[in-house]
Amino acid sequence: MISLKKTPRYFWSLSSVKFNFIYCLFTMAAYNIPFIKAVYLHDHSIAGTVLTVLSIFALLNIAVSVLFIPRLVKPLAVFFCLLNTTGLYFMRAYGVVIDKIMLLNVIQTDVYEVQDLLNLRMLADLLLFGIFPSWLILKTKIIFQPFKKDAAVKIVSGAIFALIAAAIIGFGLWQNQEVLKERKYLKNSLIPVNGIGAVISVVKIKVNYIGIKLKKISGGAHMLPAAHNGKPALIVVVIGESARDANFSLSGYERPTNEPLIRQKDRLVYFDNFYSCGTATAVSLPCIFSPYPRKKFKPESEKYNENVLDIIDHAGYKLLWRENNTDCKDNCNRIEQERFCNVKECADEILLRNFSSKIRSTGKPTMVVLHQRGSHGPLYALRYPPEFEIYKPVCRQEYLPNCTREEIINAYDNSIYYTSHMLSKTIDELKALSGEYDTALFFTSDHGESLGENGLYIHSAPYETAPDEQKHIPTLLWLSEGFSEANGLDLDCIRKLSSQPFSHDNVFHTLLGMSRVVTPFYDPALDMLNSCRKNPLPAFGRTAP
Ligand SMILES: [Zn+2]
Repeated sequence: MISLKKTPRYFWSLSSVKFNFIYCLFTMAAYNIPFIKAVYLHDHSIAGTVLTVLSIFALLNIAVSVLFIPRLVKPLAVFFCLLNTTGLYFMRAYGVVIDKIMLLNVIQTDVYEVQDLLNLRMLADLLLFGIFPSWLILKTKIIFQPFKKDAAVKIVSGAIFALIAAAIIGFGLWQNQEVLKERKYLKNSLIPVNGIGAVISVVKIKVNYIGIKLKKISGGAHMLPAAHNGKPALIVVVIGESARDANFSLSGYERPTNEPLIRQKDRLVYFDNFYSCGTATAVSLPCIFSPYPRKKFKPESEKYNENVLDIIDHAGYKLLWRENNTDCKDNCNRIEQERFCNVKECADEILLRNFSSKIRSTGKPTMVVLHQRGSHGPLYALRYPPEFEIYKPVCRQEYLPNCTREEIINAYDNSIYYTSHMLSKTIDELKALSGEYDTALFFTSDHGESLGENGLYIHSAPYETAPDEQKHIPTLLWLSEGFSEANGLDLDCIRKLSSQPFSHDNVFHTLLGMSRVVTPFYDPALDMLNSCRKNPLPAFGRTAP
């Protein structure tokens, strides 16, 4: 007989109650420092923060004692260690919170964007907060009592924790109901509640749309003839990425980030009081084209609803979507799409490849959407060709807190400068085509961006609590002389309106007005240009969607 000495399977043993207690302590201490900070910043009270953390610790203990049954305890404990670490990394790197919008954005992200976010710091976090504790869990012998005894112990400990939580929450409600109500956004910082809540919300959204057929709104749409000159219209809609009003010199920013647009100034209008529909691409991009205003817009509904592009297409325009971002996120499903970039990163000028020959081949009124890579974070320095590195030094790291604020802003401003260059070049293309077409350009960003203000980076903050930088976005309009004349649009009049409050809610109706497409869904009151049009478009039989 040969006997082999095995290395011990377990380092130590713990009763299930002790294991749960230690696991909850670890969850609070290792993953929830951002949450504890957020509570303190919200309440400005050490006692309030301690009581909040204590009540959550008690509730977490109850949840864990229900979920951590003999066969599931280790797989679940390890799974949450890895999930929590990923959530914690993003929260610390960008000051973001985890909610359904964040998760929708993650689901829609492509492999290159993921590469942008992966780095050594993330690997170190994963080893320290994910893999190492998981290994310790696997090396722990967890001893469960016989079922009845285990249940009895859990009921008693659960009751104690429930009493603690109820007493604290009850006390809080009695003290100040309003404060507690305001606190609902704090749950987006609480790991793993935020992750679980986001998953449940996204699953609910997806399930809601199962079996739903495309809702058509394009029927009956038709084009009015232009006022005179008989040239077809050519409208270019440029959708920016993460551009914010605060860094546009057209809005008063001290750096000349819009310098390349100066030569187009005579026919350009900048709207300096314009707000986005969301703070993330997954919401804003479909919302821009949707007939629904921000307050009624539901993320993912774009998959099952026609949008303004479908209406304009149905009315007789040639529609074309050129993509240099992740993808069109279901906004161009029924129109022609082109994508030229086959490598990791292409500068946005690629959107203008063979532009005039492509337009000339259509021979009819045309609307082109150019979807930019723009100023997508966190690696702003990758968003422009080297010759556009005007402001230096720049941040070249994914983990933004490792860069100085100046480096981050320099890289971001270079990307805005490059966007101005790309817009100006697009206008040059339109000028070259103005003998054959009445041309116009409409630019709006999808959402803004935080560059370290109050510890926040990138975007995706919940709309209600998001800082202005993530919602106040640049929007501009350029009209050729021919387009203004054919549509009876008075440029000076539009300039006078340019500081009025507008938002993405106006885009659907403004694009219909610019295209001279008549549909019951058109609301002249929301068309930004309608009051400056000599012959306003008819708003017959309007039916709200
Ligand atoms: Zn975006």
